[in-house]
Amino acid sequence: MKKLIAFLMSMTIIFMMSNCSTTKDDKMTDNPLLIEFNIPFGAPPFDLINAEHFEPAYEVAMQKHLDEIDAIANNKEAPSFENTILAYDNAGRLLRRINPIFSGLRGAETTPELQEAAQKIIPVLTSHYNEIRFNEALFSRIQKVHQNMSLMDYDLEQTRLIEKIYNDFARNGAALPEEQRERLKVLNEKISATALKLTENLLAENNNFILVIDNEKDLAGLPDDVISAAAEEAASRDMNNKWVFTLAKPSWTPFLQYAENRELRKKLLKAYVNRGENDNEYDNKALFVELMVLRQEMSEMLGYNNFGEYFTAIQMAEHPDNVYDFLYSVWEPALNRAKSERDQMQKIMDREEPGQKLKAWDWWYYAELLRKEKYDLNEDQIRPYFSLDNVKMGNFILSNKLFGITYEPRPEVPVYHEEVEVYEVIDYDGSSLGLLYIDAHPRPGKRSGAWCGVYRTAYYDEDGQKVNPIVNIVMNFTRPTGDRPSLLSWDETTTYFHEFGHALHNFFADGRYNRTRRDVPRDFVELPSQILENFAAETELLKKYALHYQTKEPIPNELIERINNAAHFNQGFINTEYLAAAILDMDWHTLEIDPGTCVNEFEAMVFERIGLIDEIYPRYRTTNFAHLFTYDYAAGYYVYRWAGVLDADAFMAFKKSGDLFNRELANKFRKYILAGNARWEGMDAYKNFRGQEPDINYFLERSGLK
Ligand SMILES: [Zn+2]
Repeated sequence: MKKLIAFLMSMTIIFMMSNCSTTKDDKMTDNPLLIEFNIPFGAPPFDLINAEHFEPAYEVAMQKHLDEIDAIANNKEAPSFENTILAYDNAGRLLRRINPIFSGLRGAETTPELQEAAQKIIPVLTSHYNEIRFNEALFSRIQKVHQNMSLMDYDLEQTRLIEKIYNDFARNGAALPEEQRERLKVLNEKISATALKLTENLLAENNNFILVIDNEKDLAGLPDDVISAAAEEAASRDMNNKWVFTLAKPSWTPFLQYAENRELRKKLLKAYVNRGENDNEYDNKALFVELMVLRQEMSEMLGYNNFGEYFTAIQMAEHPDNVYDFLYSVWEPALNRAKSERDQMQKIMDREEPGQKLKAWDWWYYAELLRKEKYDLNEDQIRPYFSLDNVKMGNFILSNKLFGITYEPRPEVPVYHEEVEVYEVIDYDGSSLGLLYIDAHPRPGKRSGAWCGVYRTAYYDEDGQKVNPIVNIVMNFTRPTGDRPSLLSWDETTTYFHEFGHALHNFFADGRYNRTRRDVPRDFVELPSQILENFAAETELLKKYALHYQTKEPIPNELIERINNAAHFNQGFINTEYLAAAILDMDWHTLEIDPGTCVNEFEAMVFERIGLIDEIYPRYRTTNFAHLFTYDYAAGYYVYRWAGVLDADAFMAFKKSGDLFNRELANKFRKYILAGNARWEGMDAYKNFRGQEPDINYFLERSGLK
């Protein structure tokens, strides 16, 4: 920490020299983001941080980072692990301190001022990182260390660090000759512009369609809250005495589930699946093919046969062939299950609407009837056992039984909102693992969904001391009402366990270097989170945490049975529509595409090849498959189920051992899956834990696909 103060003083001097401005200088020394966090655990002083602090703090941090990078790039000594790789990995510490606070606050407690700051900061930050990635002198030093790797005696962590950093640059084209680099820049610009246009078109298509209802009869079957939401939607558009349904999920899904009017269900579903292919100004067909052709050229330049290979090269799957093997092994059982669900629903339809044949727009509606008959999980009966505090205790108990860790409340740590709770997480040996912030309820400044993030990533300081992480889990769960505490649905309960699993991963992640400490492939990252969802539903754990909030009685077996039974509901449909989209994604990124490829013919070819049934549409069609427009999940839509195979198999290791909380297994899980990401990756890490590759059968069984 001492070094930080010295650096701040030197920065102050530089700042004064370059700006000759005392007011700005005052601002800087007052800026809580730039001075040592002098409170317990070095936690961020949320009570002092304001939106206005970020821009000047970023300005200082980016300049500091650039200076550090320049010093590495211009070093007169021959490139070595220490003066190049390690120095690069350590550079930008101040930025790494500000970044998580800034993005964390923008997710959990944003304000117009923060949003305004973000609009200024984010573009500058993006070009800051780009500038570093295109720094030729820096890359040529990294390249030299990488080339000489085999001659040196690096350990596992060092080797991986060199490879990761080298790859970050090489996958951006840094290793290509000048002329090709220029072409790649052009390609990247075209790719971004095309992706942006696809996204904008989709947004326009989402907003272009509304279903307006002016006859009350057409609302038959819909629950009251759905009807009033539709009335509000209409009112916001100045349509009185009407009801409006949109293509946003919370609007169209309940309509398809409950609306008795079949024609209107058809109209709404058709509008949803046809987004982006209406032959209007927002049509995405030709644009999408353009994107595929550009990605193909980019991948070939970087030495891959196609984009699928480029993406999977750094994933656990390693190659598209392995992804296909996996997708096909689930496809048959999923499709068979979907066919049997269809037949069960047809029987109900024969009773309700004799002579009619089930269509795609009937699926949600009849699935709902089937659910009521066979799988009904009455939320009102369930919730009293899952108070927010109970579910938190469930996670505390589980992590204690598995890993021996405990939790101490730390009310003295400042928070950004009074609802946030802070705990210190203490390891089995009494040492501190860091701080956990829990932020459970929705607020106007919070984005929707649930997530786990950090306010400080762990690191090792100059003296080799570990600085612990500060982890947060943020949710949007049911609020308490009157004298009733917050009572969670089953879905919210499993979400809590899910995010808690990510949090444990953050606490346990270890390793000497920043780049590799918690570096996990995208098809591996949901293993630590999803495995905890399995524990949540186990009788042995439920009896400990699911206690009625008034009587304190543990949840009865009959309700546990219902919870487990409901897990199989509609799984044929859910998996089939998902897999069809995942296969479509992989096909686009591995099969030969030319500028004349017709989107509709391509899709028809794919769905015919896999035998998709008419009653099910894929979860996304090409022209509205937003995951594929940007780099985030292009060729990577498979990752969700891939991780499902891992967590089902990993959990089965605990079940089969005869001890749900098997400490020995938990220690291995901690060592190889949660802590060891700096040394082992993907299947290597998994096999270290399990002794073998995962068996897909556990996933199939759990989803009712066997
Ligand atoms: Zn997750």
